[in-house]
Amino acid sequence: MIKKLLIANRGEIACRIIRTAKRLGIETVAVYSEADRDALHVYMADEAVAIGPAAAAQSYLVMDKIISAAKETGADAIHPGYGFLSENAAFAKALKKAGIIFVGPNPKAIEAMGDKIESKKLAADAKVSTVPGHLGVIKTPQEAVRIAGDIGYPVMIKASAGGGGKGMRIAYSSDEVAEGFASSQSEAKSSFGDDRVFIEKFIEEPRHIEIQVLGDKHGNVIHLGERECSIQRRNQKVLEEAPSPFLDAMTREAMGAEAVALSKAVNYDSAGTVEFIVDKDKNFYFLEMNTRLQVEHPVTELVTGLDLVEQMLNVASGKALSIKQKDVTLTGSAIESRIYAEDPARNFLPSTGRLVRFRPPKLSTENGITTRLDTGVEEGGEISVYYDPMIAKLVTYAPTRIEAIDEMGRALDAFTIDGFRHNIPFLAVLMRNERWRDGDISTKFIAEEFPDGFSPPVPEGRVRDVLATVAATIDHLSNNRRRMITQQMYGEPVCFSEVRLVELGGGDMVRVQVEGRDFPMTATLGGEGTDEPERTVTLDSNWWFGEPVFEGTVDGELVAVQVRSILNGVHLTYHGVEVPIRVFTEREANYLAVMPVKEKPDMSKFLLCPMPGLIVSLAVEEGQDVSAGETLCVIE
Ligand code: ADP
Ligand code: ADP
Ligand code: MG
Repeated sequence: MIKKLLIANRGEIACRIIRTAKRLGIETVAVYSEADRDALHVYMADEAVAIGPAAAAQSYLVMDKIISAAKETGADAIHPGYGFLSENAAFAKALKKAGIIFVGPNPKAIEAMGDKIESKKLAADAKVSTVPGHLGVIKTPQEAVRIAGDIGYPVMIKASAGGGGKGMRIAYSSDEVAEGFASSQSEAKSSFGDDRVFIEKFIEEPRHIEIQVLGDKHGNVIHLGERECSIQRRNQKVLEEAPSPFLDAMTREAMGAEAVALSKAVNYDSAGTVEFIVDKDKNFYFLEMNTRLQVEHPVTELVTGLDLVEQMLNVASGKALSIKQKDVTLTGSAIESRIYAEDPARNFLPSTGRLVRFRPPKLSTENGITTRLDTGVEEGGEISVYYDPMIAKLVTYAPTRIEAIDEMGRALDAFTIDGFRHNIPFLAVLMRNERWRDGDISTKFIAEEFPDGFSPPVPEGRVRDVLATVAATIDHLSNNRRRMITQQMYGEPVCFSEVRLVELGGGDMVRVQVEGRDFPMTATLGGEGTDEPERTVTLDSNWWFGEPVFEGTVDGELVAVQVRSILNGVHLTYHGVEVPIRVFTEREANYLAVMPVKEKPDMSKFLLCPMPGLIVSLAVEEGQDVSAGETLCVIE
């Protein structure tokens, strides 16, 4: 058995691997770059070795540095996580030479599957259904156009060495093929140092469904069911789930059998993932195989009850699989949300900064519902420009899919992150999307549901009532508290009106009257003197001042509303709505109408960079006159 494991990775996946290693009594060694000196994975591991500058190409990607770190610390095995060196056959070979166990498949399997053209050929030989297309490298745009014509439009041009959604182009006509061929080729060259591209049929409105496989060094391969990852933005996964709401037992069996056949064809001996796209009629086609632990592996762990890292460590140390295919059962439903440091309201531009506040929702297993967080950051940490912007994976598990979605919705509502922008508001909106809730999805889902990008929702309907009630109740609690201050000057008790006018941004006012001293409290909204019908809302909670999340029930329904104090009110976050709310007495509201509005400063003479980046070129110099629309600089 492995005694000491070096984790050649960073962030959430390094932490996740360390956790299992610790549970199994295996010593752990972290490696870290200069930018990660204070990262969580460094503190979690028993030992840590510095491996160079922030840039991955000078640290996490340098095989020699990783191997000497292992030798220096006496680690007998290396887990590569995902990304970085995880699918690098040369690394696996170098470890073999150095007498260190590579926690992953044999180098031949990595090589065979690392290339999309080669792996498709292998799949076809193993009788696995592949996307109709041309199984060869395409050299010229003319050849590309001819082949695309044979396949039939639309087609997809892909980089053979591709990954992470890079180097892919869809073409609906011969002009688009010629153009897509050139851009796919150049992107492939710059991203992967390999400009080989090929063409296959573009399957319209497909679903992305992948099969988790597990093999050992004794020729056993089983599959652990599927994950559906159709919710993607620009071919990159955003939400994943297990099982797929689309598959029936028969299709699952057939896909599982093909995935196992393909794995056996390359003597696959670790955890791996066989990706398929599935059309509307449940025809499925092999896309590629990822020869590593996948980002979204937790959903499989929750529905199978297995620890995939543990399985990988066992088979890497030569043990035979302890489970047979018939022992694998899928129970319940699991959903994963990828939390990224990016601004959804500004077309998902990257965002970086300090984690001024990082308060995940309550993580627990209760009544068959589990909330799990895989992360590599903590409050006070920093999100830098150097690595992947994914900061955490929030996973929920429940007996049914809809319960898992509802739990995810609440957990996202309660997840407090301050210091930079992130995609939680976008994910929170997704959890309330009817098509998603119904499982009526495809890889085009985000493009179809958000054709003009994501605009943050404004308070409306039920959400507006909840927000107005919570804001008015917090004001009410604060008023009551002030009235209880001791040592106040003696006098007749003063009766104040309990009517408040709550402004939910943009001049939207709602009249709210909260009654009662303790929870549960009742609020009356609208009615008298307003153009809204009267309605009452009952609120129950244990919230008290200083708590970042107001958790409780509204008319019996569980809610989590984030609270940040601002002048004259609170800034609330709920269901993806983020709004500063001010609470006024009627008299104040009357005055408000005649108050001057603070004008925004004129920033037209300032250039503010919309995202963290590198200035590639500067087109102007100090003192120069410029006009609107002129290029000032280029930022990457
Ligand atoms: P990568 O290595 O970048 O993950 P994949 O081949 O797995 O590349 O494709 C990524 C995504 O692109 C898939 O999940 C799917 O949404 C889409 N895609 C890939 N090939 C096709 C195709 N032939 N037709 C339709 N969509 C495709
Ligand atoms: P509460 O504890 O009820 O919130 P406040 O001191 O905030 O009491 O007063 C509530 C409102 O009552 C104020 O916003 C103001 O409009 C009005 N108010 C309070 N004290 C006076 C006062 N001395 N003269 C006139 N209006 C007052
Ligand atoms: Mg893929």
